[in-house]
Order: sequence, then C-alpha cells, then structure tokens
Amino acid sequence: MEYFHHSEEWKVFICNNCMHAVWPDKIQKHLKQKHGVANEKGAKISEEIRQRFHTVAENPADFVSPTIPPEEIPHLQVYTDGFQCQVCQAIRKTREGIRKHCRQAHNRTEHTHRGQPSRAKQRAVARSEQPLWIAVDRFQRFFPSREHSNYFQVREQRGRQRHRVCYASEEVQWAAKVNGELDGIWKKAAEIRAKADRIIEEGETDEVNKWVDRTKWNRYLKGYEHEALLDLVEKPEEEEEVEDAIWSAMAGLAKFCQKTVAQKAGLFV
Ligand SMILES: [Zn+2]
Ligand SMILES: [Zn+2]
Repeated sequence: MEYFHHSEEWKVFICNNCMHAVWPDKIQKHLKQKHGVANEKGAKISEEIRQRFHTVAENPADFVSPTIPPEEIPHLQVYTDGFQCQVCQAIRKTREGIRKHCRQAHNRTEHTHRGQPSRAKQRAVARSEQPLWIAVDRFQRFFPSREHSNYFQVREQRGRQRHRVCYASEEVQWAAKVNGELDGIWKKAAEIRAKADRIIEEGETDEVNKWVDRTKWNRYLKGYEHEALLDLVEKPEEEEEVEDAIWSAMAGLAKFCQKTVAQKAGLFV
C-alpha cells in the first residue's frame, strides 16, 4: 500500500495509515516517527511523491480550508456525533470538550455566565438564551495539531445516504407529541435539580471532615460552580499544547514532592 494519498482538490498529502494530512516538508519526519521508516527510505518516498504531484500546499499559508461543509473528504478520518459551538462554529468530539470550549473561549456556561449571578439573572439567562452548542453528525480535520487542525462539518458522501422513509398515522403523531412534551417537562425538572446542585454552598463546620476543615476548601470554593472547577483539573486535550506542557510539568512536580516527603518523613502521601 502506498503511504500517501494525494488530494488534488485540497492540495495535500494524506497519510493512508494515520488518515490525516502531512505537510510536504514533514513527510520524511512523519514516516520515521510514526511508521519507523528509515531516514534514507523516507527521503526517497518523499522525493518521489513530491516529483509526481505538483499541486500541493507547501505551508499553512498556502492551504485553503473549507468554508462551507464539503462532502466527506476521502482518506481523511471521519468523526461522528460531535458538538458544534453556536458562537464560533468550533467542533469538539465530546460534551465535556464543547462545555470547556464555551467556558474558556466565550466565558459562557449552559445556563449562565461565570461567577455567581443572582437567581433572577440566572433564570432570565436560561429563558432567553439560544443553545450554546448543537449536535453535529459527521466531521473531519486535515491536520492533527497547530494550523488547520480545526474540525469542520462534512456531508455524507452521495449515494451512501440512507433514505429514511417515514410514515406516521395521526394517532402515532399525537402520541409522539404528548411524549415529546412529557420529555420536555422531565428535562426541565432535571435541569432545575442539576442547577440547584451546581453551586457550592459553604458547609457547616460539623459537616466537613478534618482534612477539609484544615485546608478550608469549603470556604475558598464557596460560590464556584462544580463544573468550572472540574475543568481546571481535567487533562488537556491533544490540541492544547501549552496546557499539556503545564500538565506534564505539574505531574513531574507532584512526583518530585511525593518522593521528597517519602524520603524526609518516611511517609507515603
Ligand atoms: Zn501516518
Ligand atoms: Zn465557540
């Protein structure tokens, strides 16, 4: 099997194995690092492919990314069931990912802005706001990191679309409508319950254990949202290179501290 596919339309080389694009001047490095191809052989493959195809974007500035959802691009990985931000159209693979994006990029949460607004304001925001994100069926991306690594929505390839023929009698439609309304009521109730649980309240002294009592977390964290705090301790995603570096450094520091404490105090913490 050939290592790369050349996309005439998008002017890129796509690795057949990794299913993402590789910049022309990184082909040799990619073959070595990802597929263990020796330097000499990699250089030969790179030279051959570059001589064969001339319509190629040489660098990020040369590359033109899709503006409207294109049809599924062959050879690129297809992702399904993601979430798209309604403010900037960014796509994330997971619900946690899009929640984090909305909070970090737009300072918005599902129901309210960051902080602890009054209950009246929370209610007003919840009533008036459009959904922050919507589900997206199929999406792809060209590069795995840095420039042009954003996901974009794609349309299913022609001829592969399933034809969904749906016929429903009036009775069935009516039952579905009632079910839908009931679902709506349950969802609302669940939202109200979830919101009530979301904000940390300062506990009574007799409620907290000795450790929390000593660290005073209940006092420092009062008024913050659980979700926003959990974001801060979540492992960064692969695109977040700076956060990833900080994450690794902190892990190193924690290990170092643990070792020191174990040596000095003879305790394993
Ligand atoms: Zn590859
Ligand atoms: Zn956004």
